[in-house]
Parts: sequence; C-alpha cells; structure tokens
Amino acid sequence: MAAEARGPRVVVLRCKACRAELPAASNDVAFRCPNCGRGWEIEAGGFIDRPCFYVAPPAAASGPLLYLPYWSFTVAASVTPSVMAEADELSARDKAARFERAWVSAYAIHRPTYVGEWGLAYTRINPKWEVRSGRGPEAPGASISGIDAQNIAGHYVLGAIDRTADIGDLDLDLEIGNPELWAIPCYDLGDKIRCPWTRAELSAAALDDLSEIRRASERREA
Ligand SMILES: [Zn+2]
Repeated sequence: MAAEARGPRVVVLRCKACRAELPAASNDVAFRCPNCGRGWEIEAGGFIDRPCFYVAPPAAASGPLLYLPYWSFTVAASVTPSVMAEADELSARDKAARFERAWVSAYAIHRPTYVGEWGLAYTRINPKWEVRSGRGPEAPGASISGIDAQNIAGHYVLGAIDRTADIGDLDLDLEIGNPELWAIPCYDLGDKIRCPWTRAELSAAALDDLSEIRRASERREA
C-alpha cells in the first residue's frame, strides 16, 4: 500500500475554462493558461478572470527566449494647467497625455530600484510590440496581486510626471484600468537576461525565481 503523502500538499491548479494544468509556483497568485490563453487570479479562495495577453518575440529574435509575467493597465492621465500656466505645468500636461499604458513586473526582483524594473521602463517608453491573445507561450505565474500592481502602476505614472513638475501644485486626474496579465519575452543568456526592446540586462541573481521560471518554460519546450 502506498504511504500517505506527508508535508505540504501539492495542489495542481487547472484552468477554469479548459482544465489544462496551469504553470504555478508556490508563491504565485495569478496564472496564464498556455492552452487557451485565459488569465486567472486567486482571490477570496476562488479564481477570478483576468484579461490575458502576450507579446510576440521580436522579428529577428536571437537566442533562447524566456517569457516573464507582467501586470498591465490602461492609463488615462491628465493635468489641467492653471490659468497663468507656467512652462513646467504645460510640459507636465504634455507628459501626462503621453501615458497610454503601464506595466509592473509580476516576478520577484531583488532590489528593483537598484537593478532596474523593466515594467517601469516599459511604462516610460511604451514599446511598439505586437500584442497577441489566446493559445501561446507558457509563462510563470505572477507573484504579486493585480491590485498591488495597480497601485505601483499609479506610482510609476505619478513619479514620471512629478519629474517634470511638482505634482503637489498640479490639478491631476489619473485613472488606472483593471489588471491585465501579460507575458513578455526576453532573452535568456544563462547568467543574465536581456530585454529585446530596451537592451537592458538583469543578472540571474537579481531574479528570485529564475530556476522556477526556467522550469515553467522548459516544460513548454519538452
Ligand atoms: Zn485554459
């Protein structure tokens, strides 16, 4: 007779829509189904639906790719300059109007303000990439919640506008949309990863779960 399993119980998470197994690590709270492309977040003990997208690899991809999870949000930011608007108020207005979307890394990074958070970089530059939905790559789950990421996204946009003008003096209207779960590819160079769009690099040691992330990706290739 088989001995009863002891220790932490392993729960296999399955997509609510198609029943495929979801790539999930112990700290993950949201998942992209590689089979049907739906996104799910654990909330109040159940799954809630999250819109889910992935970015196509660059046309001339060089090297093995790894998909990383991000939360993304539509952004509507507007600054109303005062009647006697000063130059920095006007440039803050123009800057606010440029934001269309924000991204927040959903994988754990050590000392993100020191090594650089790619979601913040994407929020600032709004890369022109090809966005797809549905069946596609296997990406690891998100280790931060969509609502936490929504707050961070707001700080990213406010921080960028604040560099232009003191937001304390501005009449600022900011709307951050609902969480969307995205998978965005990067190059896996072994001891580091490189962003195809910004050319930024992150040391493998800066990523908390890189071995789990690779396992999730390897399973897709197997
Ligand atoms: Zn599914």
